[in-house]
Amino acid sequence: VSGGRSFQARSVDVAVIGAGTAGLAAFRAASAATSRVLLIEGGAHGTTCARVGCMPSKLLIAAADAAHDARHAAGFGVRACVEIDGPAVMRRVRRERDRFVGVVVARVDGISADQKLSGRARFLGPGVLDVEGTIVHARAVVVATGSSPRVPSMFSGLRDRMVVSDDVFDWTDLPDSMAIFGAGIIGIELGQALHRLGVRVRIFGRGGEIRPLTDPVVRACAARTLAAEMPVDLDAKLRGLRLIDERVVVEWEATPGELRSESFSYALVAAGRRPNVGGLDPERGGIVLGAGGVVLSDRTTTRVGTTNVFFAGDASGDVALLHEANDEGTIAGENAARFPDVRPGARRSPLAIVFTDPQLAVAGAGFLQAAASRPDVIVGEVSFEDQGRSRMMGKNRGVARLYADRSSGRFLGAEMAGPRAEHIGHLLAWAHQQQLTIDQMIAMPFYHPVVEEGIRTALQDASAKLPIHVHR
Ligand SMILES: Cc1cc2nc3c(=O)[nH]c(=O)nc-3n(C[C@H](O)[C@H](O)[C@H](O)COP(=O)(O)OP(=O)(O)OC[C@H]3O[C@@H](n4cnc5c(N)ncnc54)[C@H](O)[C@@H]3O)c2cc1C
Repeated sequence: VSGGRSFQARSVDVAVIGAGTAGLAAFRAASAATSRVLLIEGGAHGTTCARVGCMPSKLLIAAADAAHDARHAAGFGVRACVEIDGPAVMRRVRRERDRFVGVVVARVDGISADQKLSGRARFLGPGVLDVEGTIVHARAVVVATGSSPRVPSMFSGLRDRMVVSDDVFDWTDLPDSMAIFGAGIIGIELGQALHRLGVRVRIFGRGGEIRPLTDPVVRACAARTLAAEMPVDLDAKLRGLRLIDERVVVEWEATPGELRSESFSYALVAAGRRPNVGGLDPERGGIVLGAGGVVLSDRTTTRVGTTNVFFAGDASGDVALLHEANDEGTIAGENAARFPDVRPGARRSPLAIVFTDPQLAVAGAGFLQAAASRPDVIVGEVSFEDQGRSRMMGKNRGVARLYADRSSGRFLGAEMAGPRAEHIGHLLAWAHQQQLTIDQMIAMPFYHPVVEEGIRTALQDASAKLPIHVHR
């Protein structure tokens, strides 16, 4: 008993903070080596992915795609009447979301009670945690606390008319209008989905960016295509943001000197996410924070400096994607269990996909990375406008750009906006991980007629630009 508070103490080999995707992967990996593993969760079980992330966002997009396809069926000579039933749309999103959450919760239920602890953890010292009164001593700690939406202070005056993506999936109906701030993955995915479901939206971006694209040609094509469908200003000059009569009134400079304003039911702030590290008192755990409060952990071992702490998933501030969280969790769990014998884990080729229409994908090195590391990078390109299969489906919009190393002919990576990018992105990432050359990729089978034939065209374009000796 200290200062009137009673403390319990636990001693374990590995403490995992956070039972999200990364934390569960870490728990599983550490448990393969030791049973003295403790999984600490301060919120509801079920993971960000299943509860408010990948799964419910793609459920909403699936509804939006159904509406869009029905609306455009007339172009094929098929007439359909489209009526959006907002409560029914959100019912399905919530019902299926709950199913996905239930699967994760059942998995957590299967973990023995003495290996789980509820409460928010914070460091008291290296390897020592306070979990709301329980003191945990651990030989090694995995921090897998995820991330939270970043909400700049300019939005605080909007009170409950300001929402973040977490809120969207609990709606019981669709709003009539929504101003969306941020043109990152979450902003444009949700923005286009809501637009297709009949919500009046306007997306306000910054700096002309569409994350994760870095190729100016692909980005311009994506920007044009999205803007042709709905109001998107990727470099918005915001001049005012107020709450008037419970409505969000946005004022912006449409062209120099021309002020415009529009009123919306809500503002969705999709201005990025920040790692959940603040409340952990990381410095007490011996962790030195880098610029902007980001933890500097090693990408291959997930270890922070020479400490006994490993960061995994969104908390690491690295790439905030599910499959990366899973891999990092596994590496962190293995290393924490065998600490201090820390080994590098295998990382896969980068792959990011955005479920807009056209879909976006970056596989391997994106343009910036490919071109920055090799100034004489070769670019093979294809437009999907005249691509056979894409035209058949009425999805002939977009472009793919493939990057190759001039001296070896090796495929470096690609960016694309176009049909079936979720699948083509995988083929390209797999080719990248196998370190294939452009010619080896061309030698792979291509069926007819498929969208992948477009990728062959881009490969042939790159091949034709390679010096003769590379083809030998
Ligand atoms: C709208 C949206 C759509 C997305 N779509 C995709 C997609 O299509 N594809 C994709 O790959 N990725 C997508 N992502 C990203 C993906 O969901 C995340 O990268 C992934 O879920 C991160 O997992 P995690 O384990 O790091 O964090 P989480 O799953 O958030 O787990 C962190 C856990 O730590 C707990 N915690 C936090 N602090 C403490 C503490 N001090 N003590 C105890 N517990 C604590 C939290 O309660 C939480 O349960 C999306 C994200 C969002 C928000």
